[in-house]
Amino acid sequence: MKLVMLGPPGAGKSTQTRRAARELSYFHVSTGNIVRAHIQSGTDFGREVEGYNRRGELVPDDLIMKMVSPNLEPAGRWILDGFPRTLQQARRLDDELSEVGLHVTRAILLEVPDSALDERIKYRRYSEATGWTYHLEHAPPPQAEQHLDPGPFVKREDDAPEVFRRQLVAYHKEIIPLRKHYEELGILSVIDADRHAEEVTADVLHALGFNDYDITENAVRLRG
Ligand code: AMP
Repeated sequence: MKLVMLGPPGAGKSTQTRRAARELSYFHVSTGNIVRAHIQSGTDFGREVEGYNRRGELVPDDLIMKMVSPNLEPAGRWILDGFPRTLQQARRLDDELSEVGLHVTRAILLEVPDSALDERIKYRRYSEATGWTYHLEHAPPPQAEQHLDPGPFVKREDDAPEVFRRQLVAYHKEIIPLRKHYEELGILSVIDADRHAEEVTADVLHALGFNDYDITENAVRLRG
């Protein structure tokens, strides 16, 4: 299984990828988390991409490919979260995979209306310890089980309203050809993600061919 998770900023890509990856034992590759980890650690790469991240602009394809490629373990099962963002990136991904006789198995597009995204971004917090994303009201950071994620839980630099709006404009432009690309390959599943996270996770698992699961208040567990 080689999967990609698409959607606007704040759609819940990270949360849904983490949940699906945990249930299915897939490897979760988040380009945003890789970018932030490099910036946090002050690496050369981090210094190169810092400005793009702060301004909410996409990191140039060559740089992002350098970060993604080492994670595309041919024998592995993985979900790419936040990649590809452009048709160009999708084509480069296809080319890399086809060199080893592979292809993307399924692309999942999480749809959320723009009007709902503003609020999600406002309450979004990011854990510098784990890279996990939280929503202060609907999915707050763990308090009783701090060993799971000690934080700190911070607002992302690119969550400022003007930066977010710029990201959203870019998203709407890029998603049209990207969506068409996966539609034409016949591997696109579009999911309404303007619902409770558990309902969305259930649909994601369903789109991946897993139908035997239990939905609880804050988790979706595969049976057996
Ligand atoms: P995210 O956490 O996915 O919202 O990504 C945060 C930032 O990392 C983006 O605003 C970009 O600057 C950079 N980034 C993440 N993924 C990509 C990508 N596929 N292509 C270009 N830049 C990316």
